[in-house]
Amino acid sequence: MNTDNPYILLTPGPLSTSPTVREAMLRDWCTWDDDYNLGIITPIRQGLIQLATATRPEDYTCVLMQGSGTFSVESMIGSVVPDDGKLLVLTNGAYGDRLAEIASYLKIKHLVHDSGELAPPDLKRLEQALLEDKQITHVIAVHNETTTGMMNPLEDIAKVVKTHDKIFMVDSMSAFGGVPLDVAELGIDFLVSSANKCIQGVPGFGFIIAKTCELRKTEGIARSLSLDLYKQWRGHETGKGKWRFTSPTHVTRAFYQAMLELEAEGGVFARYKRYSENQRRLVSGMEKLGFRCVLPEKYHSPIITGFYNPEHVDYNFMKFYNSLKEKGFVIYPGKVTGIDSFRIGTIGHVFPEDITRLLRAVEESMYWAYEYELLGS
Ligand SMILES: *Cc1c(COP(=O)(O)O)cnc(C)c1O
Repeated sequence: MNTDNPYILLTPGPLSTSPTVREAMLRDWCTWDDDYNLGIITPIRQGLIQLATATRPEDYTCVLMQGSGTFSVESMIGSVVPDDGKLLVLTNGAYGDRLAEIASYLKIKHLVHDSGELAPPDLKRLEQALLEDKQITHVIAVHNETTTGMMNPLEDIAKVVKTHDKIFMVDSMSAFGGVPLDVAELGIDFLVSSANKCIQGVPGFGFIIAKTCELRKTEGIARSLSLDLYKQWRGHETGKGKWRFTSPTHVTRAFYQAMLELEAEGGVFARYKRYSENQRRLVSGMEKLGFRCVLPEKYHSPIITGFYNPEHVDYNFMKFYNSLKEKGFVIYPGKVTGIDSFRIGTIGHVFPEDITRLLRAVEESMYWAYEYELLGS
């Protein structure tokens, strides 16, 4: 349970961190010193590969990249798809749309399959496109679409993409470290996530898990100097972990602590169980209070859940939000187009008892539902 925080963030990143992760930042580091590169960066890179695949870690490498998660996504897309390649983007939300937007900015040839925010990707359509459009070389999908909280069927998508022997890239920003997966088993070639999501670090960098033999083929493709994935990787490899340009030293030190805490918790599966318990408790409690989920249960993820805003005339999201914030909980506005909703995240340094406290706070904040009591008093 959180007792040291003025309020806890029930948002999909940045999220609530442990006091020990925050304390780890209280010291300065030199970016070319071995204490930093061999003591912090190298174990982070190795640890992330271990989290990504238990079966074939030797086939993968890890590149760290400055900036928020989107910088790493842009680095990956812009450094991996060549000028004569074509990218198929699967989207069912704002983060999938962002992948297509990046491809547009970078003038990368691409095709978008949009299944709408309330449906998973259409696998038959994917299969059809890969059969018919021989120009497609790469496919990219979002793992957990944070817009709605929909857990996309990564295994099924991977199967189709790999049957057709395409390069498979995944934005697993809000799932990696909190949802078990094995990139080698799924045949994922590139996967991206960031420091401030399920590993529970603070914001400041992202990382790309790459199949080494595929990354090797990408020299010279990058469309940006600072986001050149291949060069960043060569920098790490030849410099004992060193980053090409100033690295976010305090953030990486905090992240190293966060990785130790993930291990101490029992690894990704244990964390997945905690997040799942948080989410189950949240949904059943909210439904008891009369709220309805945006997605049917079969599409839920342990990461974040969307709820319809109550239809009551007196309901106002900002008033509800502020009341919860006063009681120590920060929730998230909705992002689904055309649906009046808000979201509550269940990841981060957040425990089932925190969810129970949240539910009590929600009940106390439902001023619109207690009108009759006010009138009666
Ligand atoms: C958080 C997130 C991102 C990255 O967002 P930033 O604001 O750049 O950190 C990308 N994709 C998904 C699915 C996310 O949840």
